[in-house]
Amino acid sequence: MNFDFSFAEQALFKDIQDRAKGYAEGKNLETQDLSQVKDALAILGKTPYLKLGLDTPKELGGISLMGAMEILATLSPSLYLSVEMSTRLFGGIVATWGSNEQKKRWLAPLMKGQSLGAVALSEDSLNVDNDPLKTTGTQDGDLLSITGNKTYVVNGPVADQVAVAGMMNGQVALFIIEQGTAGLAAGNPFITLGYEGAAISRISLNNCRISMDQVIGPFEDRNVLDTLRLWENQILLGASLGLMKAAFESARDYAKTHRSGGKPIIAYQEVAFKLSEMLTLLQTSQLFAYRTAWTLETSPKEAESLMWCAKVFCTEAAEKVSGYSLQILAGSGFISGNPSEIAYRCAKYGQIAGTSTEISRVKIGDAALGYR
Ligand SMILES: Cc1cc2nc3c(=O)[nH]c(=O)nc-3n(C[C@H](O)[C@H](O)[C@H](O)COP(=O)(O)OP(=O)(O)OC[C@H]3O[C@@H](n4cnc5c(N)ncnc54)[C@H](O)[C@@H]3O)c2cc1C
Repeated sequence: MNFDFSFAEQALFKDIQDRAKGYAEGKNLETQDLSQVKDALAILGKTPYLKLGLDTPKELGGISLMGAMEILATLSPSLYLSVEMSTRLFGGIVATWGSNEQKKRWLAPLMKGQSLGAVALSEDSLNVDNDPLKTTGTQDGDLLSITGNKTYVVNGPVADQVAVAGMMNGQVALFIIEQGTAGLAAGNPFITLGYEGAAISRISLNNCRISMDQVIGPFEDRNVLDTLRLWENQILLGASLGLMKAAFESARDYAKTHRSGGKPIIAYQEVAFKLSEMLTLLQTSQLFAYRTAWTLETSPKEAESLMWCAKVFCTEAAEKVSGYSLQILAGSGFISGNPSEIAYRCAKYGQIAGTSTEISRVKIGDAALGYR
């Protein structure tokens, strides 16, 4: 296991950092502005970021993808979430299971930053990991008619196309529904605790008629859903690293400059110890996340349970680190819009989404007992 980044990777990270930072300059990416994600994608499309893990050689997947994710997630949690749910989740579906025609139609523009995707798994009153999906596709002449309701869809109101998970002839399939299709409607963006810059909504599908070449699958078993969770969990590892890094740096800089009793507050052990615990959690999370990303490439079977462990650890660490950061910034941290406050509000999401912390722990227990 070698976590050293090559010169090519370092150049890639610098390119992403410079372009994304340049785009973010003077903007508030944490507030709802539905045009921002598409503008940002056009900028990211000039770098290899949107291709990582989708069409680049193996050496640029794995830990270099994790490194790139960490950079964008540190800059803006909301932009990161919108971009990743489109690129690595929607894009991952088409890259992995799509036909050549489907790749040409949806993946090529996505990797150039010219289109935005979304993935709709969640439904009200069921748990995707444990219950059968209610959304269905039924044959209607040469077409397929899709009916169902999905919720919490990142990019729901702005996506050019949505991959909708549902049942077809008793098997799981992914239906690619393009914006403007009759019967597809997105709700207003939810008002959320964090990630307010990402447009998250319900979508309803009322007899949406699509052609058969818009279907990916059907799949023989539900493993496809496990794979989507695995990718989603990786996105959430990146999100957690970004939140921790932004929160740690903000608290460290503040502690060095803000004074109390004639000295910077970092001189007080209570503050310095908090910073040292934050750094320890950040660095441990980085090791865990990078090892998981490396294992995904080298030993996918082992990566599955490693991912649940890493997700539980990194997402809980993110909540702790952002909480300490806010405590160090105190009153100024409590004012809306600073990195500590943003990270604190976003951190909870990582424990809820993907494989939730509770379900991950159940699965880790099963793996430890040899049931997986
Ligand atoms: C900001 C945000 C963005 C999201 N983006 C998307 C998206 O783009 N696409 C999408 O499809 N979904 C998305 N989701 C949905 C997210 O994946 C779900 O919220 C998550 O899977 C949990 O499902 P749920 O909210 O229905 O809770 P439930 O599954 O109903 O769970 C409720 C509670 O019960 C626990 N629980 C449930 N079953 C078990 C079990 N078997 N063992 C132990 N504990 C259990 C859970 O851990 C949780 O604490 C998003 C959610 C949020 C908050």
